[in-house]
Amino acid sequence: MSDQTAPSIVLFTRDLRVHDNPALHAAAGDGPVVPLFVLDPKILDGSYNRPNRGRFLAESLADLASSLEKRGAGLVIRRGEVASEVAKVAKSVKARAVHMAGDASAFAHRREDALREALEPLDCDLHVHDDSLFVVPPGQVTAVGKNHMAVFTPYHRKWSKEPRRAPLAPPRKLSMPELPMGKVPTSSSISQGPTAPSLARGGESAGRKLFSDWLDRHAEDYEDGHDDLAGDRTSRISPYLHFGCLSPLEVVTQAAPAEGFVRQVAWRDFHHQVLAAHPSSTRQDFRTRHDRWRTGADAQREFEKWKDGRTGWPLVDAAMRQLLDEGWMHNRARLVVGHFLTKTLYLDWRWGAQHFIDHLLDGDTANNTMNWQWVAGTGTDSRFNRVLDVTTQALRYDSQGNYVRRYVPELSEVGGPKVHTPWKLPADVRKHLDYPEPMVDVREGNDRFLAARGKK
Ligand SMILES: Cc1cc2nc3c(=O)[nH]c(=O)nc-3n(C[C@H](O)[C@H](O)[C@H](O)COP(=O)(O)OP(=O)(O)OC[C@H]3O[C@@H](n4cnc5c(N)ncnc54)[C@H](O)[C@@H]3O)c2cc1C
Repeated sequence: MSDQTAPSIVLFTRDLRVHDNPALHAAAGDGPVVPLFVLDPKILDGSYNRPNRGRFLAESLADLASSLEKRGAGLVIRRGEVASEVAKVAKSVKARAVHMAGDASAFAHRREDALREALEPLDCDLHVHDDSLFVVPPGQVTAVGKNHMAVFTPYHRKWSKEPRRAPLAPPRKLSMPELPMGKVPTSSSISQGPTAPSLARGGESAGRKLFSDWLDRHAEDYEDGHDDLAGDRTSRISPYLHFGCLSPLEVVTQAAPAEGFVRQVAWRDFHHQVLAAHPSSTRQDFRTRHDRWRTGADAQREFEKWKDGRTGWPLVDAAMRQLLDEGWMHNRARLVVGHFLTKTLYLDWRWGAQHFIDHLLDGDTANNTMNWQWVAGTGTDSRFNRVLDVTTQALRYDSQGNYVRRYVPELSEVGGPKVHTPWKLPADVRKHLDYPEPMVDVREGNDRFLAARGKK
């Protein structure tokens, strides 16, 4: 029989919250808890660990620690290989169980296997809660004979009909055994280097405030307004969903009447279940189109200009600078710059995906990779050869040019939609603008892409 006074460990990973947290809820309902976060050198020393997200993580951990303290516990911090660190803590407090959120990546699955193995000799059970990071976990909605679905529309239809549990209240009070706590890490002890100047603040408290303000102000007009670049009317909760400061289930429950918004959250689940079924898609084409992406000095030079927001295409440049300034970019802008890189410039989607991972607060293996592949036409988009015209996109989604002027100060004096075509301005105006000529002809670039794909 299990010892009812033995504590359970809650191993936090990408679920840095106390509201609607199934792992915390289950452990707290069972007696004393040890809330634990392990800083894993496999992540810290890898190409995924970047200063923007490092800072967001540090802020999120500090906020979580404070929420746990208010409830009578705290956050235990360890640094090292996850399975052995958890096993050490489990042994020291004689834990009877470890609760954690289930995740989708191959990395997460390996971590789970290692943990199970390390805990077994201690007679300590591992409980993996698959309903923490997703509204509908990977593997629950599938096509006949498959373990996932590769087309979004039928996936979404099934996803919408899945029964949903009610969000769980945060525990009111927690009890915790004595043990060395360890120090909540600072941003620079997670990741060194400069951060973007205008980053959102991490943590559950900031995320809940942001989301509740957005619900009040913009949820109703999301359907009409989400593509309006200058209006900035999307929720901006993606980093909070990525780190689990917000629960996706709670978010869709609260936003339920805003169907267009809920559908976007379904995209998040969709990409995770595709990646869970095809883990190699982080590096390999999901569906190869036999591309021979450009390489060499010209390709590299154009890539650098794209990264810096110096292409001479105002909408592309505004978007790339938004990324450098905020560690975030509007979805419509991500689509435009992604098409521009992979189709107009015909550069490898992996280059773009890595640059996004270097800067995005919400930089997420599943969402980033699968969206890049979607844009490049190597992913789940059935219209995989579609090309976008930057100026058409600019006039449609930034009709007055306010988004461009916000992020490209060199063009701040150019009024109205003319800002999208600075090369058409009179020569005497142009010569006062410290802004480059377009580095590529979009139509020619798109034609080159279509020819490479055998479509022209
Ligand atoms: C090339 C490219 C790369 C991307 N990389 C990432 C990434 O690394 N991390 C990430 O979270 N999103 C990524 N996205 C998806 C999307 O752009 C962002 O989720 C969205 O812009 C976040 O802003 P928001 O929270 O205001 O979204 P809202 O419009 O308010 O939507 C609410 C939530 O729905 C989810 N969502 C919305 N659109 C998508 C989508 N296309 N795919 C998956 N989930 C979506 C997000 O979790 C988002 O927070 C990428 C899109 C593209 C085209």
